Amino acid sequence: MSDEQGMVRTAVEAPVLEAVDVTVHYPVHRSRGETVHALEHASLRLHPGRTVALVGESGSGKSTFARTLALAQQPTDGTVLLDGKPASARGRRARRAYASRVQMVLQDPFGSLNPLHRVRYLLERPLRLHAGVTDRDDLEQRLRGLLERVRLTPPERFLDAFPHQLSGGQRQRVAIARALAVRPDVLLGDELVSMLDVSIRLEILNLLAALRDEEHLAMLYITHDIAGARYFADEIAVMYAGEIVEYGTAEDVTQNPAHPYTRLLLDSTPDPDRMEFLASRTSRDADTPDAGEDDYGEPPDLVHPPSGCRFHPRCPLARPECGQAPPPRVEVTDRQWARCVLLVDPDDHHHGRTTTPEMTP
Ligand code: SF4
Repeated sequence: MSDEQGMVRTAVEAPVLEAVDVTVHYPVHRSRGETVHALEHASLRLHPGRTVALVGESGSGKSTFARTLALAQQPTDGTVLLDGKPASARGRRARRAYASRVQMVLQDPFGSLNPLHRVRYLLERPLRLHAGVTDRDDLEQRLRGLLERVRLTPPERFLDAFPHQLSGGQRQRVAIARALAVRPDVLLGDELVSMLDVSIRLEILNLLAALRDEEHLAMLYITHDIAGARYFADEIAVMYAGEIVEYGTAEDVTQNPAHPYTRLLLDSTPDPDRMEFLASRTSRDADTPDAGEDDYGEPPDLVHPPSGCRFHPRCPLARPECGQAPPPRVEVTDRQWARCVLLVDPDDHHHGRTTTPEMTP
């Protein structure tokens, strides 16, 4: 059953980190009084030992959401809760305390690892600053342990290397090790495999899955790759233009997508499991206006977001009323919800299924 905040209750443990109705607006061109509507009323819960994937195109607000959860971005409205209490990172001590619980790993390890420092220094720093480790032997042992945890073995091969002497996958492992150094409860990964070769991505995802299970980490996995998210995440939140438009278990959202935008994301993913569906869709929908079209335009400008459903200018199923009022959240099943008027009207539900055969159970 879903609760009032729209989260799907499938986890057994209480959330460690939670965003409640978070909105982020920030000004651009102050002289013109323009505002970016980056995030609107977004809620999400991260539970120990579980992964939520936040999926959407570039510019959909995913990174703003992660930065807000990391308290690197102040929400305009709404709250971030850690262990059920309002989180704060005001002041150096509070920032450090928060960082020792919630860590973020970024997409580009080249950008996030100082190229002038050896791996030893990069990992020692958080151990000294956050964990207060000063004893030389203890430090050495923990450094080796960290590298072993991210499968960089033997550790002595990597401890004195500079970032540029490592491969992309090894650098990302160092970035993950650095995040783990403080023994966090939450790991926020922002597109952390998207710059790696395809063959390496799976290794890093497997590593993250193993760490999540071994260390009982709560994970947010931000990606534009919904097919990859399916194999890695427990739940998927689909984000469009600053709003979560669909939420559910990874299997339900990818196998039975309810929102037209989720369908487009899946259609544009080269996932072998989807190919059969795509072929059948092309032949079944050959006489529909959108048949064969896969160019659905660009994401909207968030300074002037579309009225009503923000997806309506690109939605192949849009109706005239879609531009007038935001669609309500509709429970599709007890494990999945979406925001779309097609799911509200029982008369048109049939129409929706006719044009979206994959929505049929
Ligand atoms: Fe498309 Fe309308 Fe549904 Fe938005 S509310 S996704 S425009 S059909």
